[in-house]
Amino acid sequence: MGKAIGAIGCLGGVLVLVAGLVMTLVLGMGGALSGQSDDDAAEPATTADATCTTSSDTGRIPAQYQNAVEDAAEEAGLPVAILDALFTQESGYNEDAVSHAGAGGVGQFMPATWAEYGNGGDRFDPYDSIEATGRFLADLQDIIADVASNDVEQIEFTLAAYNAGPGAVQEYNGIPPYPETQNYVQIIMGNADDNYSEDCTERAGSIVGDLGTGEWTHPLPGGRSTSGFGPRPCPAGAACNEYTTNHHGLDFSTGGGTAIIAPTDIEVTATGTNQFQGEYIVGRMTDEAELVFQFHHCQSGSTSVSVGDTVAVGSGLCTEGNTGNSSGAHLHFQINLSEADDSQPTYDHATDPAPILQAQGIL
Ligand SMILES: [Zn+2]
Repeated sequence: MGKAIGAIGCLGGVLVLVAGLVMTLVLGMGGALSGQSDDDAAEPATTADATCTTSSDTGRIPAQYQNAVEDAAEEAGLPVAILDALFTQESGYNEDAVSHAGAGGVGQFMPATWAEYGNGGDRFDPYDSIEATGRFLADLQDIIADVASNDVEQIEFTLAAYNAGPGAVQEYNGIPPYPETQNYVQIIMGNADDNYSEDCTERAGSIVGDLGTGEWTHPLPGGRSTSGFGPRPCPAGAACNEYTTNHHGLDFSTGGGTAIIAPTDIEVTATGTNQFQGEYIVGRMTDEAELVFQFHHCQSGSTSVSVGDTVAVGSGLCTEGNTGNSSGAHLHFQINLSEADDSQPTYDHATDPAPILQAQGIL
């Protein structure tokens, strides 16, 4: 599996450009799809306990809207920081914002959705829009509750439903594989996370819950992120298949030759070389989250650790290289959940490292 994964690393520039275009699209469209409320799908369900409902201290909510946003967050059962990031993304709190698709106002409601959630108010009145957003999100939470298996998924899937409609979330049992929606969720979770922990013990991006108490660091200091986790466009020059279009890790590059280091304390559980991952290292966190890390494409012969070694955060593992199915020096960094097999490279149970690294203040 994952045969072409590494081949994309060198195409970072292209991907950054593509990502830029997608971002532009997302920013341009805002909540263009927000109107796809799927009411027949609504059924009574529990609203997840918000991870944190205390007032946020983002400093970003315009003062006149602070109370309204807090009230909407309470209505929605979501963190204030999430609603703040959502309004920032949708309209930048611009009450006159209109998308090409016809969404309008602070919450970027389509007219049909507004008819349902606006309670007779003015779509372009910021207070009406913020309040309606709370009601709409509360309903979306209920609709997608069965699909989510934890609080963070509940938040992510609600955001995905806000962007793509709850029907799409149900159809795909999660965030639908639309680049715009994937980006939308990632942007909002990331932005919310920036200030999220100031009032709360949990952070929005941490999908594994407790990340342990140990210190973390970047696995490739100075590395530029060249490819993100999850669905991505077919890169130019690479075969378009399920592996190239669904990336199971994060790629970082300094151009080659930089030491790859343990991002936190790990025990090395596998080392080796194959035609796909090249020279690779697998290690499991010694701290309680017990996540499994994979490092691919090390320079040939650079691995300085052995199976069974306990390696402290920041210690060298190998050197950023270009081995295996890789066409440019980079680190493919992957995090698998604790239930993953740690005796060999695998893409099973891979999870997005970005929110985890964000939660540790690394990204
Ligand atoms: Zn990769």
